[in-house]
Amino acid sequence: MEKFVYFFKEGNKNMSNLLGGKGANLCEMSSINIPIPQGIIITTSACNNFLKNKDDFFQNLKPEILAAVSTFKKKPLLFSVRSGAPISMPGMMDTILNLGFNDSLANYLIEKTNNEKFVYESYSRFILMFSEIVMGIPKSKFNNISFSNYSEKISKLKNIYKVITNTLFPETLEEQLFLAIKAIFNSWNNERAILYRDLHNISHDLGTAVVVQEMVFGNFNDKSGTGVIFSRNPSNGKKELYGEYILKAQGEDIVAGLITPFDISNLNNQLPEIYSELKKYSEILEKHFKDMQDIEFTIENGKLFILQTRNGKRTPEANLNILLDFVNENILSKEEAIIKIDSSCLEAVLCGSFTEKSLKENSPIAIGLPASNGVATGKIILNSNNIPEDGDYILLREETSPEDLKGMYLANGILTSKGGRTSHGAVVARGMGKCCITGCDSLKIENDHSLTINNIPLKEGDYISIDGGTGYIYKGKLEIEKNNLNTNIKTFINWSLEFSKLRVRVNADTPEDALVGYNFGAEGIGLCRTEHMFFKEDRIWKIRQMILSTTIEERKNILQLLSFIQFKDFYDIFKVMKGLPVNIRLLDPPLHEFLPKTSYDKVFLSNKMNISIKEIEERIISLNEHNPMLGHRGCRLGISFPEIYEMQISAIKFALDRCKRENIPTSIEIMIPFVGYVEELQYIKKYITEQLKGYEYKIGTMIELPRACILSHEISKHVDFFSYGTNDLTQTTLGISRDDSIKFLNTYQNKLIYKHDPFKTLDKDGVGTLLKTSIELGKTNNSNLKLGVCGEHGGDPESIKFFNQLPIEYISCSPFKIPVAILSAAQSEISKNF
Ligand code: PEP
Ligand code: MG
Repeated sequence: MEKFVYFFKEGNKNMSNLLGGKGANLCEMSSINIPIPQGIIITTSACNNFLKNKDDFFQNLKPEILAAVSTFKKKPLLFSVRSGAPISMPGMMDTILNLGFNDSLANYLIEKTNNEKFVYESYSRFILMFSEIVMGIPKSKFNNISFSNYSEKISKLKNIYKVITNTLFPETLEEQLFLAIKAIFNSWNNERAILYRDLHNISHDLGTAVVVQEMVFGNFNDKSGTGVIFSRNPSNGKKELYGEYILKAQGEDIVAGLITPFDISNLNNQLPEIYSELKKYSEILEKHFKDMQDIEFTIENGKLFILQTRNGKRTPEANLNILLDFVNENILSKEEAIIKIDSSCLEAVLCGSFTEKSLKENSPIAIGLPASNGVATGKIILNSNNIPEDGDYILLREETSPEDLKGMYLANGILTSKGGRTSHGAVVARGMGKCCITGCDSLKIENDHSLTINNIPLKEGDYISIDGGTGYIYKGKLEIEKNNLNTNIKTFINWSLEFSKLRVRVNADTPEDALVGYNFGAEGIGLCRTEHMFFKEDRIWKIRQMILSTTIEERKNILQLLSFIQFKDFYDIFKVMKGLPVNIRLLDPPLHEFLPKTSYDKVFLSNKMNISIKEIEERIISLNEHNPMLGHRGCRLGISFPEIYEMQISAIKFALDRCKRENIPTSIEIMIPFVGYVEELQYIKKYITEQLKGYEYKIGTMIELPRACILSHEISKHVDFFSYGTNDLTQTTLGISRDDSIKFLNTYQNKLIYKHDPFKTLDKDGVGTLLKTSIELGKTNNSNLKLGVCGEHGGDPESIKFFNQLPIEYISCSPFKIPVAILSAAQSEISKNF
């Protein structure tokens, strides 16, 4: 028969699927002698059974719970009952404290403690929590009761319960416990928990475990208290105890952010022994779990208890700092640290700060607690429910609650007037990697639409800017500077490069992009889209003229000008890349991307080309294609108009000549796009080789058509390398347009027909199989064939995992994706051995 109830000594940290994260960690703490209140765990499987079969199942569960509870000998016996899912969902589900109270227990406790106030406060808190969580009675229903003594207060509270529920308040421990456990099981499916799981991609069928633990009382006397600490600073990663506590209070006071607590450093003055014990346990736990810990504790009459520990949520920047320090402190190996980084964390660290210029021009108008790093600007909005799906907003609240979750997710940043750095808003924002400032007491919300910050009147819709790293608030819209490559990211990139097999190159079309890629650690250019070199304002006209030319002479004249521009760009790019391979793809312009569309453009061109607008329009019509992505592009252009590729080759030659004269090392690869027939390749290769006689270079082709994949053995005979253009290969294999697929993508994803957007994450079964076939066939006739990937999938961690399993030498992606690609390549390789 399945076991549904576990004692702490029966579990361990690897059992979080069954015992929940909290439960599994309590078991682990029990095994390393951390002082925890004793208890039991009711499994997630019990929860799932209950959610399906309700009381039919619960009847069978009761004896197992009772048998376990009967082993607790503490007198009086009071419990906390908490939810604990396999994946942490802070604040999303329910907790009941002080369970077990009834009148006779209260009397016994008063006799024992001689502390009537404490006993009745605990008792009434229990009634309120129980009523709210088990029966859904809002706390406000119990407001405004008048009473002359404590026992009268209790009977009035119970009476309200009775009037609303039509039942008596349950008096026995068993009855209270059973109802509480059922309520916690049910809270798995409350609205905010469902939303949280949707937002964080957590499966809805995990279920929650329930942890039932002996109560320890933080509100007992002056030597009692409660708090939450992080083993390191979750905002910047510094090695210091970080957190808050309140004396003479119970845990929920602090977590809910209702009382502004003391900074933990203060405990060193108030209860120094407890402070140093806390420090000791925090270090032990951190080393044991090999992660920064978020620890809840209670002090009861001078004795410390750890209530729970879990891996602490932190800002992406803090995450990098902590992992780096862990390697230096020998808590983690480099490989373990690399595996622990989430690729989105790197992207978030790269997400920026305010520019120096805007900081000089703007002074902060107020300061709050810097709760979650990052910067954000946006229009003030006061109601979470009113935030549109897109747009720039900063959510301003007195304090956030789980109901604000969706608004927090949609907002660029969050600012609250109350709450500490471990309050709900702060914890959730950090988990989202979202900039957040809490406890800004100069923020006064006046009504639904207006407010003041430091007495400055503001209203909804006004712009403000916030810095979650410093806590500063600015009026107006400051400029954000993106992509700071800090030294920690560089260290991780270098470590990742040590462990990765797959190399990472950059897709760069300009010397500027090449430099960004080079600085991020790219080991070459995997794709220089030469048509993109003409995107800049002053250049686009020349390429348009070239496309619209109708005679060779006309075309050759304009090609001369283009040739000079390309020569200079190639030269500059070679200089930046310092001898690393540069893969130049010959022109591949799907014509629709380049033809003039507006009447202004047409007039401008007619002047430039000295022909009538009518003539321009006629030429545009003659080039018009219904499906330009599958039209006169790629090598087809180089066959129709060899003079175009010849111009490009001569630009390359001039650039190589100049580099040679200036002793700049070069290593170039010339790539022919959109090849489907070996004859296309042969035709173009012939005139390129003639032109480049005496030069050192490699020649290759993009593989971006299914026909090229299945005839790879023919094609590979004539080239040094293949580079997989997975954008077009996806388009042509799935038969969906790169430009239009989005129209049905959502429907397909909702109906689980596509698991991912195939242009973001490679379709392994289809496109991936073609890739494998092509590699196998290509290698049969050319064992030295070099292989790369230059489609957008080269920047996608999931796709990188797949490429890493194949004999592919490199992936190539856009400059700002390079850190993520290098990290993912290393993770894919390291995880093979973990
Ligand atoms: C591709 O098709 O994957 C590719 C890299 O080329 P482009 O995106 O320029 O068509
Ligand atoms: Mg392509």
